[in-house]
Amino acid sequence: MSLGEFDIIARYFAGHGSRRDVLLGIGDDAAVLEVPAGRRLVVAMDTVAAGVHYPAGTAAADIGYRSLAVNLSDLAAMGAVPSWMTLSLSLPAARADWLEGFAGGLFQLADRHAVALIGGDTIRGPEVVTVQIAGWVEADGWMTRSGARPGDLVYVSGVPGEAAAGLAVIQSPLPGPTSKSGQAAAEHLRQRFLRPEPRVPLGRALRGIASAAMDVSDGLLTDLGKLCAASGCGATLDTDALPESAAMRSLFDAAAVLDFALAGGDDYELLFTVPAERVSLLAALGSEVPCTCIGVVTEGQGAEGQGAEGQGAEGQRVICLCAGQVLPLRRQGHDHFGS
Ligand code: ADP
Ligand code: MG
Repeated sequence: MSLGEFDIIARYFAGHGSRRDVLLGIGDDAAVLEVPAGRRLVVAMDTVAAGVHYPAGTAAADIGYRSLAVNLSDLAAMGAVPSWMTLSLSLPAARADWLEGFAGGLFQLADRHAVALIGGDTIRGPEVVTVQIAGWVEADGWMTRSGARPGDLVYVSGVPGEAAAGLAVIQSPLPGPTSKSGQAAAEHLRQRFLRPEPRVPLGRALRGIASAAMDVSDGLLTDLGKLCAASGCGATLDTDALPESAAMRSLFDAAAVLDFALAGGDDYELLFTVPAERVSLLAALGSEVPCTCIGVVTEGQGAEGQGAEGQGAEGQRVICLCAGQVLPLRRQGHDHFGS
């Protein structure tokens, strides 16, 4: 059965859920939204493409979930409340089973965060999914990457590296582990890659506590470098303080585990800095997701002379300590246009 653009929208994407602030949703030339009085609109967009962000053959439901999760993560990093999304779908063919799976994964996560799909575009082309997310934050209440100051402590939520380890498990040509515990560990890691949990409640809670925040999508070291560059400072990261992952340790050697944690991408955890006098506020949050102090913000190492925006300057902003020794920075995170 061949599905036209209109059928696809009507069957899989229109009429799902409702929000009172959606004055006009799918079906007209554009959507009309009511932004709560006194709030600021926060907008982000992320694309996921087969073979770039997930291996070809990834289940449609996982792609649907992921296309929204990466966007929610961006709003989480701003401390915003997600409300609305648009969806640009480029597909080589309109397959009913794929669309059903995709919409199922997308709306599963959308419903959990009460996000309404308010429009989009549907075209034939290579498999590429773009979601634009919009939400709101209190006036002057958003977080940025640029507020870190020397002396602030560096925190990360969750267990960085597990998503990259999960991707390695998925892509490994070797047979999987045979023991029950090994299989459980492999499945845990696969899920961390396929179904990242955007830290929206944590992002909201960090307003007024964190001095700077961002989400970790390209790898801990690279992203901490970006936060430092935006803040005009440096950081020391203590690898011994990184959260332990029993699942990673059971399937990979120590060097690989450290590599995943420092350079693996796709975690969608929050990386943030907290001034020392506000650390007790963080502890008092009782956040559902554990947050671990992994380092400290510094003045920065010769960052000035190299130009804050200069190529390669980001890597040099972060010094990694392992058992008190400086770790050579041979590993960097993901850059689509990097060599
Ligand atoms: P136009 O040609 O005026 O852009 P379309 O026929 O592309 O309108 O879209 C009709 C309606 O369906 C619009 O409201 C649009 O936002 C919505 N829409 C199109 N594709 C999608 C999609 N993938 N998901 C959600 N809404 C969509
Ligand atoms: Mg259109």
